Amino acid sequence: MIQVQLIEELKNNIKEAKFSNKSIGFVPTMGYLHEGHMSLVKQARRENDYVVMSIFVNPAQFGPNEDLAKYPRDLQRDSKMAKEAGVDLLFFPQVNEMYPQDGGISIQAGTQANILCGSSRPGHFDGVLKVVTKLFHLVEPKTVYFGQKDAQQLAIIETLVKDYNFPLEVRRVETVREPDGLAKSSRNVFLSPKERSEAPMIRKAIKLGHEHFKLNQDIARAKQITIQHIEDNISGKIDYVELLSYPSLTNDLLNDTDVILAVAVFFENVRLIDNMMWNIKERY
Ligand code: AMP
Repeated sequence: MIQVQLIEELKNNIKEAKFSNKSIGFVPTMGYLHEGHMSLVKQARRENDYVVMSIFVNPAQFGPNEDLAKYPRDLQRDSKMAKEAGVDLLFFPQVNEMYPQDGGISIQAGTQANILCGSSRPGHFDGVLKVVTKLFHLVEPKTVYFGQKDAQQLAIIETLVKDYNFPLEVRRVETVREPDGLAKSSRNVFLSPKERSEAPMIRKAIKLGHEHFKLNQDIARAKQITIQHIEDNISGKIDYVELLSYPSLTNDLLNDTDVILAVAVFFENVRLIDNMMWNIKERY
């Protein structure tokens, strides 16, 4: 595995891969890798000749009161895991390499960013769009891999790619979970033992809401069942429970659309998210 920190070195390696007609699969991450990230790499490995991973804790997507400084980092361990998973090229730039003084042009997400995580994280998705736009141009991938766990991010990136004709395909990869159902996340290390034991109830609550929705298509009741299960079993505070169309993320549930039941819960030192997607026609 080749490891580079500079854009120039990245571009040289990409050029070589392109020259050899290799298809490039790209997995952008913020590091502190776990099996969720690895499943993106595995799929990229299966579908491409050349796999690029980036590790960059992107300051542009953190608000002033968020956890940028304490976001977990372990580059040595990450690099070992990436190598074992079959990454060909690991790009881990410094902040000033990615964001030297620029012309102040920003990329703004649309209405999809006004709800769910966007409500409590203003500007977050603009920061995500800033980094992925830059990375997509640098890596020139044929296919990019994102986790369904961050479904709002996925919806917004899919829209960016479609609206602005990026010459690449976005793959949605299923959420990888702990044996008890908790979605794997770099932030799970911030849970206290008590919170860790409660956290799998988020998944359980979403499943209950989903089951109920399939039975009688009652959005309000499905949300209420999800909320109730969280409130009865978790000491954390609900940020949101929403049942929306996907990928538009509106309340407009059309007959032939995917829907998402998305949840975020604040614990003492961390906010966890999870979701489930299905087609609205799915019924018992
Ligand atoms: P992050 O490092 O948190 O920015 O995540 C990098 C990529 O890994 C994103 O596309 C995430 O959606 C994806 N990801 C994070 N956790 C999981 C998980 N548990 N299962 C699948 N993909 C995940």
